[in-house]
Amino acid sequence: MSVRLAVPFLLALAATAPLTAPLSATAQTPPPAAPAKAVAAAAPTDAARMARLTAPLPADQAAMKAHVMFLASDAMRGRDAGSGEYDIAAQYVAAQFYAAGLRPMGDAGGYLQKVPLTAYKIAGEGTFRWTGANAAARALVFGSDYVPAANPAAKATNVSAPIVYLGYGLSAPAYGIDDYAGVDVRGKIVAYVGGVPAGLPSEIAATLGGAPARLAAAAAHGAVGAVAIADLRRAGRGAPGFDTVKKGYDSERVTWALPDGTGSTATPAVPLLGTLSPAGAAKLFGRDWAAMARAARRKVLRARPVTAAGTLTVESATSFRALPSSNVLGMIPGSDPAVGRETVALSAHLDHVGVGKAVDGDTIYNGALDDAIGIASLIEAAKRFKQAAAPKRSVLFLAVTAEEKGLVGSDYFVNHPTVPIADIVADVNLDMPILTYRFEDMVAFGGDRSTLGPIIARAVAGIGVGLSPDPMPEEAIFVRSDHFRFVQKGVPSVFLWPGQKGPGKAAVAAFMDRCYHKPCDDLSQPILWDQGVRFVDANYRIAREIADAPDRPRWNKGDYFGLLFKGPMAAQ
Ligand SMILES: [Zn+2]
Repeated sequence: MSVRLAVPFLLALAATAPLTAPLSATAQTPPPAAPAKAVAAAAPTDAARMARLTAPLPADQAAMKAHVMFLASDAMRGRDAGSGEYDIAAQYVAAQFYAAGLRPMGDAGGYLQKVPLTAYKIAGEGTFRWTGANAAARALVFGSDYVPAANPAAKATNVSAPIVYLGYGLSAPAYGIDDYAGVDVRGKIVAYVGGVPAGLPSEIAATLGGAPARLAAAAAHGAVGAVAIADLRRAGRGAPGFDTVKKGYDSERVTWALPDGTGSTATPAVPLLGTLSPAGAAKLFGRDWAAMARAARRKVLRARPVTAAGTLTVESATSFRALPSSNVLGMIPGSDPAVGRETVALSAHLDHVGVGKAVDGDTIYNGALDDAIGIASLIEAAKRFKQAAAPKRSVLFLAVTAEEKGLVGSDYFVNHPTVPIADIVADVNLDMPILTYRFEDMVAFGGDRSTLGPIIARAVAGIGVGLSPDPMPEEAIFVRSDHFRFVQKGVPSVFLWPGQKGPGKAAVAAFMDRCYHKPCDDLSQPILWDQGVRFVDANYRIAREIADAPDRPRWNKGDYFGLLFKGPMAAQ
C-alpha cells in the first residue's frame, strides 16, 4: 500500500509535499553496518519469539508463512525496489512460480520482466524570471518566492510564456467543475491553487487532489506548463504549504525510464514548473493580486481567471539515476478455445520501503503484511489454480516492483504488457491484508463500480462472510494500489481487504497506527495463518469465477472511472 497522499500519479509528477521523503530519503543513504535486530539476537525474549516463529502449522498455513519468513526476513532488508535484496526476492518468486507450474510470462521466456526504474530530482535552484512592467522590482527569489519542480520528462526545462491563474485549475465536468470554461490557455502557463472543492466523494477528491489532475487538464487545453500557488487554501491533502514544498522540492522521485533515459509521465508536454509562495505570485500578478488572493482564501473558491501582464521564463535542470528492477510474471493458460486468450490478472507488490530511520533500535522495514503476505497469497492462489481443473480464461500472476514508489512497476507493466492489455478482463489486487484477527466480513474496494460486484459477493459468501461497505472512505484506498494502474487502462478491478466487523476495527487501527510503514511490520505481529488461508480462498474464488464466467466484467453504466479511462469494457 502506498503512502496516503502519495497516490502515484500525485507522486510521480508532484513538486508538492515531500510525501515519501522521510523513508525514501533515508533509503538512499548508506545503511548502518549492523542491523539492530542482529544485536538483539541474544536477548532472552528471543527464545519465545523463535518458538512462536517455528511452531508447527497445518501444511497450507505453513506454506504461506514460509514465503513471508523468507521475504520479510531481515536478510531481505525491506525489499527496496532497485536493491540487490529486492532482486533476490524476485528470484524467489520466480522459483515459486516455476514450482507451481506457471508458464513464464516475462522477458526472453523467463519469469522476470525488466523494469527500467529511474530516480529523478531537481538539480540546483532553477530560475523564475519575469519580463514585464517593473521587472527589476519583481525579480523572483528562490526559496522565498518560488521553488522549482523536477521534470521527469526532460533533463533541461525551459518554458517562457504568459501565465494565467485559473483557481483550482481542474476540469471534471461530471462533478460540475470546469475552471477552463471560456479561457484560452493555449501556449500559456497555468497557475492554480491546491486542494479540491468540498463535497466530492473521497476517491474522486484523491484523484483530483494533486498536480497530475491539473497537468492533465492543462495538457488537454493546450497549456505549456503549470505552477502551483501555495498557502492560499488551508494546507492539507493536495494543498501543501510553501514551507513543506520547499523542504521536499529536491527529494528524489521514481518513475520508469523511456529509451532516452528520461522518465515516463502522463503529461510530458506540460511540466509542473514549480510552486510559488503568495509573495511570488504577488510579483507576477501585480495589481490584480490582492483581489485574487482575497477570493482564493474564501471558504468556497470562486476564482475569476486572471492573465498576468508579462512573461514568465522558467529554467531548471533535472538529474536522473538508473535503478533497474523487475516484475515477476507467470500464467496458467486458459482452456477454452473461445475465451482462453482473455486473461484475469492477480497482482501483488513485492517491494517494500527498505532500510530507514531507526524505530526502537530497528532500521529494517520488513513489510510482512505490506506486502509479503500478498505475494505469499499470490503464490498459494497459483498453486490452487494448478491443482484444480484448468480455468476457461487464462490467469496471470503478477508480482510488481516499486509500488511503494508510486505504483511504478504496475504502471510499467500496463504500458508494456506481455499479454495484450485489451485481453486483460480484470485485475484482482492483493495488498496489505491485515490478518491479525479472525475476520467476519470483507471489503471490496472498487467492487461496486463494475459487474465484478456480484461475483465478489458470491465468492466471499463461499468462505462464510459478507461484504461490508468501505469503512474508511477518507483514505481513498481504491486509488492507492496497483490495481489502479489497470483501472487507468480501462480494466475493471477490485482490491479486497478483511473487514472491520468484530475485532477487525481495533486490529486495523492498531496496525495503521503502530506498524504501517514501520520496522514493526514484521513477523513479531500476531499473524493468524488460518486467516491467511481464508484470504487466499476468497481471492481464488473471485479469480476463478471471473475466469470461468460466460462474459467478461464491464464497468457499471455511468461509472466515473469507467468513463474517465475508457477501455474495451468502458462504462456507457
Ligand atoms: Zn506500503
